Amino acid sequence: MSVTNDRVGSAGRPRVVVLGGGPAGLGGAWQLALQKKASVTLVEQNPWFGGNAGSFEWEGQKLDFGSHRLHPACEPSILADLKQLLGADLLDRPRHGRIRLLGRFIHFPLKPLDLLTRLPPSFGVSLAYDGATKRLRRPAPGTPDTFESVLSQNLGPTMCDRFYFPYARKIWGRGPEQLSGIQARRRVSAGTVLKLVRKVLNAVPGFKKPGSGRFWYPRHGYGQLSDALARAAQSSGAELLLEHRVKSLQAPRGDAPWRIAIDRGGRESVLEADHVWSTLPVTLVPKLLTEPPPAPVFAAAAQVSYRAMLLVYLRLPVAQFTEYDAHYFPEAEITITRLSEPKNYGDLGAPAGATTLCAELPCDAGDRFWKMSEAELGAVVAADLARAGLPLPAPPTAVKVMRLPQAYPIYLNGYEQPLEQVDRFCDTLPRFLTYGRQGLFAHDNTHHALAMAWAAVDCLTGAEFDRAAWAKHRAVFATHVVED
Ligand SMILES: Cc1cc2nc3c(=O)[nH]c(=O)nc-3n(C[C@H](O)[C@H](O)[C@H](O)COP(=O)(O)OP(=O)(O)OC[C@H]3O[C@@H](n4cnc5c(N)ncnc54)[C@H](O)[C@@H]3O)c2cc1C
Repeated sequence: MSVTNDRVGSAGRPRVVVLGGGPAGLGGAWQLALQKKASVTLVEQNPWFGGNAGSFEWEGQKLDFGSHRLHPACEPSILADLKQLLGADLLDRPRHGRIRLLGRFIHFPLKPLDLLTRLPPSFGVSLAYDGATKRLRRPAPGTPDTFESVLSQNLGPTMCDRFYFPYARKIWGRGPEQLSGIQARRRVSAGTVLKLVRKVLNAVPGFKKPGSGRFWYPRHGYGQLSDALARAAQSSGAELLLEHRVKSLQAPRGDAPWRIAIDRGGRESVLEADHVWSTLPVTLVPKLLTEPPPAPVFAAAAQVSYRAMLLVYLRLPVAQFTEYDAHYFPEAEITITRLSEPKNYGDLGAPAGATTLCAELPCDAGDRFWKMSEAELGAVVAADLARAGLPLPAPPTAVKVMRLPQAYPIYLNGYEQPLEQVDRFCDTLPRFLTYGRQGLFAHDNTHHALAMAWAAVDCLTGAEFDRAAWAKHRAVFATHVVED
């Protein structure tokens, strides 16, 4: 089979093949090429850039894969780079959402006055009681460190039973007792009563953190961010291949290069690389290797799983459904977890007199929801909205479904051991790096995935990747807390 990237590797630079064209892959490709550290080829299976953070066009409108925002917590130097790439197209937008709690809608992000006036006083009393009696809930020695035990201790039953536990069951499809305590610490940014109070106070002038209640959004859809990274990478000399699926990886012996088999519509070719940087799901790596890893590594990879998601888009013949960017549905009686109205985020080219809704329905690949037709899923969403008190004003004129097989990592109790086994195995592969949200099995935001890419590029000096420096970066990544 012919090697298609033998023309690169010039000027004494190492050849890096980046697997995956989401923000992590694109950010790495851009910075490697810009800093002239490597000759870069990037391989992406989809016809679009951006992975889960990309956009696509449907019925004349740009749409994202669920509600996406760039959070102000983005590292300032990376944000400055993005601002330079996007210019005036990077909009500074106010957050304007609602969350349904106890059958009522309250503003999200939370606002003190709204909480006081919309929720029944008994809820506030229970919350205050939970906060006051926190010390009494110290877990008995030997209590397993689960999502349930961590949040019960830190927040008490009111927030847990009304909000976090039903939400966890929907998002990850597992009971809070089956999930690791790490999931609570990494995923729940208001994971203690104090943090919750701080979040609420964030809406009050004088207490506000810079950027709180606001987000960055590219005018033409979240995927514009990845498209801009892709263009910048290309103009710095990187070669980017869309609609090419990585089929297999042949690890090198000695100084020989990696051989990466890629497939485009049944036509196979091979890329050679001195370094492989993978942002693919880490569980896929053992399966892609031409020389299979030891059986325990395979078994460990099978114990690590991702939650899938269906995105159900409804085109409505009305100019606007609501004024809100997103509605959050933690409660069990509603199937979907979030509904966004893309028109309210930026300038997404929605035709006048029509709008599109995007409903997020987490599920397992292959389960009953995954197998439903577009019409059936449209009906599920319509029924959900009617139950939530937000009935559709008219039947949808069209329904579309997009599927994300890897939406969220599921941190089951004890997941760290098999994950570490797969991760350690990846470390034994010569000149191989796994990073990004899927590559590190991290529940991370886009700005975290970008920070990983920038850090990885810092670690490549000449032909050598500095493993010790990367280990230090990974310790920092482990402190990332997801922004909602
Ligand atoms: C519903 C939802 C809402 C979100 N909302 C936000 C938000 O508001 N703000 C925020 O900051 N983050 C949000 N995120 C997270 C954000 O999407 C991720 O942080 C980001 O996509 C991570 O980028 P990545 O490059 O690490 O991974 P990905 O985006 O997953 O990219 C991995 C890429 O690898 C490609 N790939 C996989 N297998 C192969 C193969 N065999 N061959 C070739 N290519 C392959 C995939 O097609 C994909 O493009 C959200 C995520 C979801 C699911």
